[in-house]
Amino acid sequence: MKKLSLRKRAALELFRRIRKNKVVLHELRTLFWECTLRCNISCQHCGSDCRVVADQPDMPVEDFLKVVDSITPHVNPNKVLVIFTGGEALVRKDIEVCGLELYRRGYPWGIVSNGLYLTRERLDSLLASGLHSITISLDGFEEAHNWLRCHPKSYEKALNAVRMLVEEKEIAWDIVTCANKKNIADLPAFKDFLLSIGVKNWRIFTIFPVGRASELPELQLSNDEFTAVLDFIRETRKEGKIHVNYGCEGFLGEYETEVRDHFYQCNAGVSTASVLADGSISGCPSIRANFHQGNVYNDSFPEVWENRFKPFRDRKWAKKGICADCKLFRYCEGNGMHLHDDKGDLLFCHYQRINE
Ligand code: SF4
Ligand code: SF4
Repeated sequence: MKKLSLRKRAALELFRRIRKNKVVLHELRTLFWECTLRCNISCQHCGSDCRVVADQPDMPVEDFLKVVDSITPHVNPNKVLVIFTGGEALVRKDIEVCGLELYRRGYPWGIVSNGLYLTRERLDSLLASGLHSITISLDGFEEAHNWLRCHPKSYEKALNAVRMLVEEKEIAWDIVTCANKKNIADLPAFKDFLLSIGVKNWRIFTIFPVGRASELPELQLSNDEFTAVLDFIRETRKEGKIHVNYGCEGFLGEYETEVRDHFYQCNAGVSTASVLADGSISGCPSIRANFHQGNVYNDSFPEVWENRFKPFRDRKWAKKGICADCKLFRYCEGNGMHLHDDKGDLLFCHYQRINE
């Protein structure tokens, strides 16, 4: 593997100290609610358990609000962002009911959506309920997007949603793109297109070859293609016309701070928690392995947040397999929590991919 430059190493050391402090403070800043496993599409890459009709019933809004009310005495609500995720959050018709209650309690709230159900009417209703932020998935131009989303109208609807958001000045929003073999060659043209329609914030992520995603060769970037995506993000950031970031996953060595606004850090269980569809309490909804720390139907969320979450806050357990002798473990801590299986074994190392 290539060595890190002295300059980068010094900066990483400094950040490590800041990170240690954040782990000690353990302040809840982002709370995801996996409000449904139902979805209106069935994406090629979906790593979640969502289905068009899910067996798991949606958690009633009042049950989630009870959790929120148990948290409120321990936090400044203004500083905790609640994010509705799924499945597809907008298949629920009562998002606004919950959103308004969160707004009344002082919590900013947002949604991650594929945009299919985001009509003008629905957006107005969400805004009237205090919507603070929204992320829309747009995975390249029409053919690439509809292929990934397995729906012929998906691109048209998502693009309509983005065009509506361009006109909204009061909320924070971005689009997120899954880079894959079908869209990688078009990324520069897609960037120009996004700029032309007024998109200012863009996140790009990649898929790691595990589970359902490993069965589709189009989803897997080669090591060179993966590096090319990072180079593209770095160059685009230098250009400064659109604010682009690589997703939070993965320690990226020399690319650290050059493809994201900050150093790599997995905030799952450190400042991010999630209430999953069945009530399980975890660190981040992207984690599919069983790192659950409790369940809102049996446990008090503040008690779980305060006294459990040890595997998230102290990641020494991850120092095994290829991470056991890795000199970069002090910065990477065994990569994102979502990249570990039920046994805690690492599924994927981004750094290795860049340097092989
Ligand atoms: S081997 Fe482990 S600790 Fe080292 S860079 Fe890869 S994931 Fe991180
Ligand atoms: S588990 Fe993965 S997706 Fe979640 S915060 Fe950590 S790195 Fe990011």
